[in-house]
Amino acid sequence: MWIDAHLDLAYNAGLGRDLTLDLEALRSRDPVEGDTATVTFSELRRSGVGLCFGTLFAMPQTRFSAGYTSWQEARAQALTQLDQYRRWQDAGLIRLLDSAAQVREHAQRYDAATSPLGVMLLMEGADPLRDVDDLAFWQAAGVRAIGLSWGQTRYAGGTDAPGPLTDRGRELLTGMRELGVAQDLSHLDEEAFFEAVECQPRCFASHSNSRAFVDGNRHLSDEMVRAIGERQGVIGLVLLSTFLRRGWTPDERRVDLGEVRRHAEHYAGLIGWQGVGVGSDLDGGYGNEKTPLGIERYSDLERLAEALPDDVQEQVMGGNWLRWLEANL
Ligand SMILES: [Zn+2]
Repeated sequence: MWIDAHLDLAYNAGLGRDLTLDLEALRSRDPVEGDTATVTFSELRRSGVGLCFGTLFAMPQTRFSAGYTSWQEARAQALTQLDQYRRWQDAGLIRLLDSAAQVREHAQRYDAATSPLGVMLLMEGADPLRDVDDLAFWQAAGVRAIGLSWGQTRYAGGTDAPGPLTDRGRELLTGMRELGVAQDLSHLDEEAFFEAVECQPRCFASHSNSRAFVDGNRHLSDEMVRAIGERQGVIGLVLLSTFLRRGWTPDERRVDLGEVRRHAEHYAGLIGWQGVGVGSDLDGGYGNEKTPLGIERYSDLERLAEALPDDVQEQVMGGNWLRWLEANL
């Protein structure tokens, strides 16, 4: 059973995408314009992925998008997504997993033909939390990991928004450490990053590529990679061309899977293969126009496995995340 550490399933449902359709049917009536969908439940079933980290992702208002302007609005978005995951669970499409024992049992019994998709809830950007006292509510709802930032949040600096942890962010990380909620370091600006890994060392980066090949604070410097490796964290490879090659633009030929391998090998050289996993983000605001060549739909994921060195395929495609979950959930 393979594991994908980053999918925005409920967020996509909120955009009006019906993920219960076959991919061709979804594409023929996709309400989202400009990006060609690659992810549905049937694609996941065919891919070999039996467990994913499913995000609660509240979209803030930006120059490019409508979104929340207050924590109340962010919380409302996350609650709607939580409800969506629960309705999918009621329909037998997914199974929410919130303990190591459940993950172990799911992995042992997983049968692609009959099992629901296992989902661990991951909150991407902490603005839906009113404050640290709201953490217990989300933990009880099944959230097992939180990333403090996306862009800037009330908790920390993030992508294209450099800055440190705020006092609120420090309090939240302390609360997460006490309650055993892990920290997702993807999107965190490095000024916040090195203090954050001290405050809550139970960590991973669900979807982050290497800054050795792409510029900007969305990507991990070697020093950040080592800090994750020292804490037995795992890093998920993102399958987005702009995050794979410096300066790539959509009018160029898409990058090939050898370039994903390059990021994987770079990480392995720093922290060993046990620190490398997949966090595809294949439904994270982009479509087939920006996926690597060969990944034309989610069920093509086995081509990523084939692009990796033979002896590490299974651990990168799922074994490393499984070990992390069994040790930390
Ligand atoms: Zn993201």
